[in-house]
Formats: sequence, C-alpha cells, structure tokens
Amino acid sequence: MLLRSKARFVFSFAGNYKTPTPSLLSELLGGLFATVFPTNCLLCERELTEPWGASICRACWESLQPLTGPCCERCGLPFASMRAEDFVELLCGQCRQGEQEFDIARSYGLYTGNLRKAILHLKFHRREHLAIRLGALMALPFEALSAADSAIVAPVPLHPSRRRQRGFNQAELLARGLVRRLRGEKRGLQLVAGSLRRIRPTLPQVGLSVSARRENVSGVFSVARPEQVRNRPVVLVDDVMTTGATLSACATALKRAGASRVLALSLARATPQFPDSA
Ligand SMILES: [Zn+2]
Ligand SMILES: [Zn+2]
Repeated sequence: MLLRSKARFVFSFAGNYKTPTPSLLSELLGGLFATVFPTNCLLCERELTEPWGASICRACWESLQPLTGPCCERCGLPFASMRAEDFVELLCGQCRQGEQEFDIARSYGLYTGNLRKAILHLKFHRREHLAIRLGALMALPFEALSAADSAIVAPVPLHPSRRRQRGFNQAELLARGLVRRLRGEKRGLQLVAGSLRRIRPTLPQVGLSVSARRENVSGVFSVARPEQVRNRPVVLVDDVMTTGATLSACATALKRAGASRVLALSLARATPQFPDSA
C-alpha cells in the first residue's frame, strides 16, 4: 500500500516537472526513482522490473514498430493490400489530385495499439520523458525526408487558449526529442518552436470529413517571422497525421512566407484502413 502511494507520487512528479528541456541528469533521476519506487508500465500496466525509459517496459517499447512496406511516395500513406509493383507511380488518390501542400510527409508508425496509447498518455498527461523518447523515434522517418542540415524544425502549434488549457504543446515536445536525438548528426538543424502561429481556434479535426477538415484549418496558420523561414527548408512536426489537412494548411503558410521546401514528419499515421486509428 505504501509502495502504491509512492508510485503515484513518482507519476505526479514526472507529470508536473516544469524544466523545459529534461536533462540527462533528470533522465537518470527518473531511472533511479523507477528503481527505488517501482511503478507500472503505462501501456501494459505490468510492474516495471528494470529502470526502463519513460515508465514504459522494454517489451512495450519494442512493440512500437516503424512502418515498412509500400507507401505513397509523397505523403507516406501505407498501401495496405496493394503490391508496390502494381503501380507505375506510387501516389495515393489525394496526392495524385495534388491536394497536399507539403513536399513530402512521413510517419514513424501507425496510429494503432501501443503507439496510439503512448500518444494519448503524452497528450493528456504531460509526460515529457515520454515525449523525448517518442520524438527520438522520428529520427528514422526523418531520413526519408532528405532534409538539408540548414532546415528549421517547426512544431504544429496549438491555439494559445488550447495551449494554456493543456499546459504544453505535444508536437513541440516531440520535436525537441527529435532534435535532441539528431544533435551532432545534423548540426544546423534548428528547432524554432514559435515559427508558426494558430491565429484562430478550430474545432477538433476528429470526426470531420476530409473536406470539412481542410475547411476547418484553412487560413488558420501564419508565420511569426517570415525572415526565419525564407529560402530555407522547414521540417514540420506533429504527433498524428490523418488526412494531412493540418500539415497542408501549415505548409501553405510556410511557403507563402518563402520556405523552400516543407517536409512533414509525424509520430503516427492514422489511416481509414486500420480500424483502431479512427
Ligand atoms: Zn509494458
Ligand atoms: Zn499520398
């Protein structure tokens, strides 16, 4: 019983930790806490028996598998039941119709199972350690973007009122994890958290049709300082990509401000082919 209450204390400590960039020291402390006060895995709820990262057990981390197989060359949409060799041009319907404003989009995995659970924990329980670890996973699809070292990393912003309510922007935390992971390899890569702004609040995209989603976010984004992105490639980061409407609306604003390329990166891809992703 005593251990249980201590475990809860550990959770709330991690949840409210206000340091913007968790240092190596805080990660080590997190590991030490997990060892001294055992907690349960956030995803499978089994007791953590080793100081594994961000309150997720080794087996659950290993279950977060990257997307493989044929996908749309432009937006990364996985082709569930089609063979790559059946297509001359590997583009999905939306991309063939030129509906996406970004140059390329890729995601780490599918928005199903444990990856979906992890994102929901991150989004609704402010878990910075988790965000840093999950953001680092995006280093894999990042390679497919062929981003120049001079690229700016821009998280998809929340409207200030939503951000105040939630207390953080999950896309920004993920972007931080990615940049940290790539530091050293991509020296010029620069995270500019406030490069994009949401100028009016929008309805949640969940449950809206493809065209309603596009309308909902049309003209919603603006670039705070156009000189920061002019003639530079921008890596847009979000937690989940569904139809690409939000990323496209961001790309429109960035290109208008002079960005040379807009490369969209998300942790998870929600697609209608996979039932869990709705
Ligand atoms: Zn687990
Ligand atoms: Zn596509």
